Amino acid sequence: MDESAARRGVQSRMTPHRRAVLRVLAALPGPATAHSIHRALRAGDERIGLTIVYRQLASLVDAGVIGTGLDRDGRHVFHLRTDDFRDYHLTCVRCGRVTRVDASVALRWAADAAVAHGFSDIAVSIDLSGRCARCPAGRATGTTAVTPYR
Ligand SMILES: [Zn+2]
Repeated sequence: MDESAARRGVQSRMTPHRRAVLRVLAALPGPATAHSIHRALRAGDERIGLTIVYRQLASLVDAGVIGTGLDRDGRHVFHLRTDDFRDYHLTCVRCGRVTRVDASVALRWAADAAVAHGFSDIAVSIDLSGRCARCPAGRATGTTAVTPYR
């Protein structure tokens, strides 16, 4: 077994530390540095050292679960990969009008729920449609019926 295959095997296991790091990333409002992730973990009573946080972040990047970039100050920041797809579209079933919507809250919830069940390499798809405000017959009642997906 070559070294990268061995590493992938390690990465596919969801350790308590890895789960905690992902939980913190899912709860943070945006990309975060290793230091701020470490601070958030400690604030949540997680006993974890900064070195382990770095190690977990590196393996999560390798596994494609999280992405990394640089902030304005040139510091490495980490984010859940779902952030790459935070723009979703709302399509009107009558006129076909398409509106962009920010789905980051739903995506964070989805990633958190999947991670809580030990999943990685998470993919989320959200199909949003309805009748837009411009289309008639949609009397504004202040309530909206939502049809759940089955
Ligand atoms: Zn419409």
